[in-house]
Amino acid sequence: MLMSACDNGSRAWIVVESEQNVLLELWEMNICPQRGKDIPEGTRVGSGRRSEGGFCSLGCYADFYGSDLIECAKRTAALAARPQN
Ligand SMILES: [Zn+2]
Repeated sequence: MLMSACDNGSRAWIVVESEQNVLLELWEMNICPQRGKDIPEGTRVGSGRRSEGGFCSLGCYADFYGSDLIECAKRTAALAARPQN
């Protein structure tokens, strides 16, 4: 089970790998990293770098990078990397 180190449960699914790998995978899957939902065709926004992710709206982009999500994701990944048993 995926766990988040942060209180925001909506982001709990961003864990396993480094955040850049996650963003790249989500780009390939056309999923917004902030909401975890499909990005409508032609509406993806972001910096233009796939490693920085693509988002379904500028609001999501701002929320994602305006928060401490990256640090949160790193902490979460560190926790997830610990042995569970
Ligand atoms: Zn979004």
